Amino acid sequence: MSSNDPTRVEAFRIDVEEAGQLIADNMPQYGSISVPLAEATGQILRQKIIAERDQPPFDRATMDGIAVAATDLAGGTRAFKFDGIQAAGQPAKACNGPGHCLEVMTGAVMPTGTDTVVPVERINVADDVATLENGYEATPGQFIHGCASDHAQGDVLLEPGTHIDGAEMAILTAAGQANVEIARWPKIAIISTGDELVDVGEAIEDYQIRSSNDRALQASLERHGCKQSMRAWLPDDPDKLLQQVGTLHADNDVLVLSGGVSMGKYDYVPGILKELGVKLIFHKILQRPGLPMWFGISADNKPVFALPGNPVSTLVCFVRYVLPAIESAMGAMPPVRLQLPLADAIDFEPDLCWFLPVALKPGDDGIPCAEPRPTNTSGDFIGLRGTDGFVALPRAESHFPEGFRADFYPW
Ligand code: AMP
Ligand code: MG
Repeated sequence: MSSNDPTRVEAFRIDVEEAGQLIADNMPQYGSISVPLAEATGQILRQKIIAERDQPPFDRATMDGIAVAATDLAGGTRAFKFDGIQAAGQPAKACNGPGHCLEVMTGAVMPTGTDTVVPVERINVADDVATLENGYEATPGQFIHGCASDHAQGDVLLEPGTHIDGAEMAILTAAGQANVEIARWPKIAIISTGDELVDVGEAIEDYQIRSSNDRALQASLERHGCKQSMRAWLPDDPDKLLQQVGTLHADNDVLVLSGGVSMGKYDYVPGILKELGVKLIFHKILQRPGLPMWFGISADNKPVFALPGNPVSTLVCFVRYVLPAIESAMGAMPPVRLQLPLADAIDFEPDLCWFLPVALKPGDDGIPCAEPRPTNTSGDFIGLRGTDGFVALPRAESHFPEGFRADFYPW
């Protein structure tokens, strides 16, 4: 039976949720590597991060001013003799006793014998004596970021699976992590198939088109932290496909193909993958765009995603299935899936889940909503400009009123 036999492929039409689950069930787990901290930006953390020290590690002044003892204030002292300056980065100095103070700078350790900061704006200085402004009452302990008040040494600061952004980078640095364990990206090959495709920089005929899918997917991967993926182009030629997909499969951990998975005469991809021994998990999902999507796994546990070639289908399938599956297999925490209300009503008759491109905008109440931006066809990738992602409108319904809430998938 050929891979283009409609009776065979019809049997594999499944729902979007089932497709996502089948992919998750079949994905392998990827390992981790240790890298210098600077290389961890945008990556997935794979170790638990424990606080090296208390944070803050000392009672820290949070205002420029004078450090005094609250007992002096309680006793009615309002004029303090200067004992010197306590700057940030200096070990704690000592206050010489009742009625004395030190000038203190933001970020400095509180001098021994002091526990309260009076801001510089609230004092008058003459002859080495600081006098509190008339009527000013200081609260004991004010303007101090107390030792260990944010967390104590030994606390868990970050869990494995966290994406490393600016805040996480600051935490890793504070925890003294010169090196950090991050998820290893699998080797991913993005393969465009189609005789009509021409790369940028090459002469092009009227009947040809630029191969944009491979670059779109590579850009998406790169934005998600995958620094190295490879792109390849293959013609609609079964012998060349068999040989070169075989080589690419041997050299990589994940294959993402686009094109050649539908019902056309030259849609050789499912047959070739079968010949290469890749086990079919499903072919065709009840969705638009991207109905002909194919997924399989090889005996050596390498997932193969074969996406339809129409550029909107390719990108939508990649964002809906491929990227989350890879990140999850790398140990990432599940992404937060927001539901957003539609900004306008829209209808969709086919008995399919509709991945509708949307642009985010503030609703009347300022709360984000999703403005439908349907493309002309699944080939109209220009229609994606200015969109932020897509919403998944369920199969069960065909009329989606304004305010209808749907899962949002950001690009
Ligand atoms: P296919 O899935 O091979 O039937 O391709 C469907 C449509 O997508 C055709 O019009 C192709 O020209 C187009 N297409 C396929 N691959 C690419 C690609 N890499 N970049 C842009 N368009 C593509
Ligand atoms: Mg094709």
